[in-house]
Amino acid sequence: MAILRFKALDEMSKREPVKADLPDKKISDYFGADVFDREKMRQYIPKEAYESLCTAVDEGRRIDRKIANQVAQGMKTWAMEKGATHYSHWFQPLNDSTAEKHDAFFEPMFGGGSFEAFKGELLVQQEPDASSFPTGGLRNTFEARGYSAWDPSSPAFILDRTLCIPSIFIAYTGEALDFKTPLLKSLQAIDKAAVEVCQLFDKDVRKVNVTLGWEQEYFLVDEALFLARPDLAQTGRTLMGHIAAKDQQLDDHYFGAIPSRVLEYMKDFELQAYRLGIPIKTRHNEVAPNQFECAPVFEEANIAVDHNTLLMTLMRRLAQKHKLRVLFHEKPFAGVNGSGKHCNWSLGTDTGVNLLSPGKTPKDNLQFITFLVNVMMAVYRYNGLLKASIINATNAHRLGANEAPPAIISVFLGRQLSEVLDKMSSCTGQDEIVFNGKSGFKMEGIPHIPELLLDNTDRNRTSPFAFTGNRFEFRAVGSSANCAGAMTVLNAAVADQLTEFKTAVDARIRNGEDAMKAIYTVLKGYVRECKAIHFDGNGYTEEWKGEAARRGLDCTVSAPEMFDRYLASESVEMFERTHVLSKKELEARVEVMWETYTKKIQIEARVLGDMAMNHILPVASGYESVLLDKIFKLQSLFTDDQWKKLSARDIALVENISGHIAEIQNLTIRMVGARKVANKIDCERIKAVAYHDTVAGLLDEIRYHVDKLEQVVDNEQWPLPKYRELLFIR
Ligand code: ADP
Ligand code: MG
Repeated sequence: MAILRFKALDEMSKREPVKADLPDKKISDYFGADVFDREKMRQYIPKEAYESLCTAVDEGRRIDRKIANQVAQGMKTWAMEKGATHYSHWFQPLNDSTAEKHDAFFEPMFGGGSFEAFKGELLVQQEPDASSFPTGGLRNTFEARGYSAWDPSSPAFILDRTLCIPSIFIAYTGEALDFKTPLLKSLQAIDKAAVEVCQLFDKDVRKVNVTLGWEQEYFLVDEALFLARPDLAQTGRTLMGHIAAKDQQLDDHYFGAIPSRVLEYMKDFELQAYRLGIPIKTRHNEVAPNQFECAPVFEEANIAVDHNTLLMTLMRRLAQKHKLRVLFHEKPFAGVNGSGKHCNWSLGTDTGVNLLSPGKTPKDNLQFITFLVNVMMAVYRYNGLLKASIINATNAHRLGANEAPPAIISVFLGRQLSEVLDKMSSCTGQDEIVFNGKSGFKMEGIPHIPELLLDNTDRNRTSPFAFTGNRFEFRAVGSSANCAGAMTVLNAAVADQLTEFKTAVDARIRNGEDAMKAIYTVLKGYVRECKAIHFDGNGYTEEWKGEAARRGLDCTVSAPEMFDRYLASESVEMFERTHVLSKKELEARVEVMWETYTKKIQIEARVLGDMAMNHILPVASGYESVLLDKIFKLQSLFTDDQWKKLSARDIALVENISGHIAEIQNLTIRMVGARKVANKIDCERIKAVAYHDTVAGLLDEIRYHVDKLEQVVDNEQWPLPKYRELLFIR
């Protein structure tokens, strides 16, 4: 059993499910037990401090020192009662993971003894020596310190006996170095803009929250098999592997019974999630074998983002207990479906209204259409930027690969809403909007909208941005991403659009037009203007690509070129108008995107080169010489004619194998050469483009020949677990 693959398969076959540690209680008994939520704040913080903290959070205001001290005191007491020994600012740097640096509450005393302390200033701000996080050049100068600062709008929690304090991460000079800072600013921007628009309809609205419900897809593989695949272990995806004879063709995995090993794992991470206040609601199998999904009930977007990143951490950790590894990569296996993180997005008011839910009265319906159409306009204007917000080296494998999303952003509305908008844009009569005294008004262009659009069955799975009854579902977001990136762009674009809308409506009102009529008229213009973004057809077809190009939608597929959209003047101006990101911050972020892109392809290229030369070629050559040996032996036993007949197939096979070996050698040398050329480039953008244009494609070419060899080389000698073994957990 010299081959690691067989040792791993043997290990896997002996596995028993590892039981989850479930308490003998209802979920509601321990939901949020490890979170310093408002209920616990009330218990542990003096009343006035508690109240001013809540007001500050609700109104997005600063928290003063005295209150911070009282909160810190309360947090410490609560955390220590629960066994915490350390505290940490917990933040989300620009690398799709989370960062923490733990410090003990414990303080030794001069002259002996010790005590436990935690002051307000430590709660509010820290200076972690986190100089290795990506910054895109923002911290290259001598004063380039990074600070983490408490985000009181997301509650602290305990993880592994450490009190974790959700924080933002910024440079000494104030620029954002993380995902959360611009997300919070975008939430503020949309709150301000949406409240102003809401007040056209209802003066009582004071606050608008973004609601986010993500659906996290992932793959699981057995730990032993994972470790026997250097590509999975180092890049998160398989760089080679011939497709299994049976994978998802029969659709027998989707929503099927969850294997018991997997179920125990799910129960374990869900338990931890519940204790941390993450409201997981759904679990099921996904389309591909070994692919699964979990989704919580939606929450306020900032908290939803924290909960998603936290859950990913829990899932990674708990997988090991179950001898599994979780793959968040968007495309771990070629030829079967990839993984996304669908982001269900809507806006909710403090008066309890979902602004993307149709209402009962004409006025409510006009408000619904207002938000619907403004979102469409924002997506239309910034369709390239939105694509830039979701594309990267890993998600690029999903785009355009016959699974939502295609590499073009469009909006799906469904038949009923499409009819409403069509009618609105084509209506031209005098009596389009008729006022009838106290009872309000009636709109010819917006007839009655069925309240239960939710039952709308014409769900279009091929759309990257679909209206699903009472929210939009941004399906293009990748499974490994921090969804704050995409949410920030969407929020900022919608906020900016709502402001522009309000300005246009106000101008008409100032000219004496009735408010509802003014709204209606501006919207009607928008519906006509953004027609190009609306597409209810099949997003996977070739015709759509041509059609989208004719409509002027962004059809670029190269990730490094897409990142340019952040720096287009209309994007920079939009981000500056909404105060979400400055030009300097955008430039730094995009620099990080190019750098990360290059590094990911570079690592993949190195791993593939190594595997091809050191794992695959020796085995293929070995098998080739077995065949040659046989051919020689046949020659010594038989006449020339007999020998020719008997060895014809083997000779063809040897030629076949030699051909692939030679190709792999040549391509690998070419790939090394292309890398050398690219590595010499100083400009991060040009380097990333070179990696995309000259290196990434060679990975697929090399893979093609390796996969051909996999089909002909002796199975007993093949060193790597095959797809049919990786993809089915026993
Ligand atoms: P599907 O797989 O059909 O898309 P799921 O039930 O898996 O649906 O996920 C739907 C997600 O949408 C859930 O997280 C749900 O809480 C969320 N959602 C529902 N209403 C809203 C809303 N108003 N705002 C944001 N998310 C929402
Ligand atoms: Mg969905």
